[in-house]
Amino acid sequence: MSVPDHELPDESAEERAFRLRARAWLQQAGLVRSAAASSSAEDEPGSALFVQARAFQSDLGAAGFAGLTWPIAYGGQELSDRHTMIFQQESAHYVLPNERLNVGLGMCGPTILAHGSEELKQRYIRPLLAGREIWCQLFSEPEAGSDLAAVRTRARRAPGGGWRVDGHKIWTSYGRFADYGLALVRTDPDAPKHAGLTMMVVDMKAPGVRFSQIRQMTGQSRFDEVFLEAVTVPDGSVVAGVGDGWRCALTTLSGERLAVAGNTALRGGDVSQLVAAATAAGLTARETIRHELADLWLEQATVFVMRDRIRQAVARGGQPGPEGALAKVISGRLVRHAAELGAELGTAASVGWMPADDEQADWAMRLTAVPGLAIGGGTTEIVKNIIGERILGLPR
Ligand SMILES: Cc1cc2nc3c(=O)[nH]c(=O)nc-3n(C[C@H](O)[C@H](O)[C@H](O)COP(=O)(O)OP(=O)(O)OC[C@H]3O[C@@H](n4cnc5c(N)ncnc54)[C@H](O)[C@@H]3O)c2cc1C
Repeated sequence: MSVPDHELPDESAEERAFRLRARAWLQQAGLVRSAAASSSAEDEPGSALFVQARAFQSDLGAAGFAGLTWPIAYGGQELSDRHTMIFQQESAHYVLPNERLNVGLGMCGPTILAHGSEELKQRYIRPLLAGREIWCQLFSEPEAGSDLAAVRTRARRAPGGGWRVDGHKIWTSYGRFADYGLALVRTDPDAPKHAGLTMMVVDMKAPGVRFSQIRQMTGQSRFDEVFLEAVTVPDGSVVAGVGDGWRCALTTLSGERLAVAGNTALRGGDVSQLVAAATAAGLTARETIRHELADLWLEQATVFVMRDRIRQAVARGGQPGPEGALAKVISGRLVRHAAELGAELGTAASVGWMPADDEQADWAMRLTAVPGLAIGGGTTEIVKNIIGERILGLPR
């Protein structure tokens, strides 16, 4: 097998062997190579897409590629962050069916590993990693989105022990599919805003949990409103300590920005796919198209470099700095520009297609999905506020 053309600086013999093993496994896994493939398919509870996601995650684990940096004690591989980078490079041109498990794998799992008790880690990490249990993130509320510390969902001490949770969450991705949710709740309304928050694991099948499906402008329904009415949560389901929720939430959010930036750039802004579309349309000689493709490549390269820096910072035990903000904003621009150019190259077929032609529907799907990508994980305006205050030193 030939030596990879995009190896990491100072890639060791062991890392190269890992790369070739990952490449060989991905090649035989029967994955779809196009970024277009699955995005227009509808999700419904128990849908084939979730069955496929769970099966793929289980196969990934059996092959030794799940939880690459997670401890062996909880089912991970305890490899380095460089191994994650290698696996992501190798898998970049495939649609990985486990994308639907990203809230658990990229956000909830890492938060529990960083802040959860031994009991929580032993109970939840293995089934999550094996694709047996699905997770959702219960953060946003109708009056607390960008201002997340304003959450009002209330957890009170229950008379018989544990907590009683009442509240209303919204925009919960894959909420109705989930077995467990990582919830940010208010345990002390008298404490300063951030200090009164606690993070808890909520059983999404528990009595008192209700869903209302939300329809997105893509036509899909990938998130829900979640109503919590007298939901019981045991003491052992508190992540870290009571009043420690904000610290845990920051870990979840940094995982979210990384996941959004990385996946967005890989899936929505695949420049090579646009080069192929421009070639097919016979437009590669047109200067404006060439410049747009070059601009997209610059944005994609920026996101990749920032994403790798974030991973290195996280691997060293730190928090991502300006890279997280940069990756989030630029990846939002990249997917918007890529969707616009893709639709332009597809001309009329991008806005009208035969019902059976899923492939053609993909550009319209992307155009309607990109505004959401700039909102999830922190809106562009909020990230710009962070850049102004924390990087440029502007007054609050
Ligand atoms: C695809 C998608 C998936 C999501 N998945 C989840 C999920 O799984 N779990 C979850 O908890 N949440 C999820 N969310 C919710 C997401 O985190 C929130 O939508 C986001 O934090 C913004 O909050 P909001 O919608 O309440 O908007 P608001 O906070 O009401 O903001 C409205 C507008 O005002 C602007 N704005 C607000 N405050 C400021 C300010 N201080 N300065 C300048 N501009 C400001 C915003 O940028 C925005 O344009 C998801 C959202 C999307 C789009």
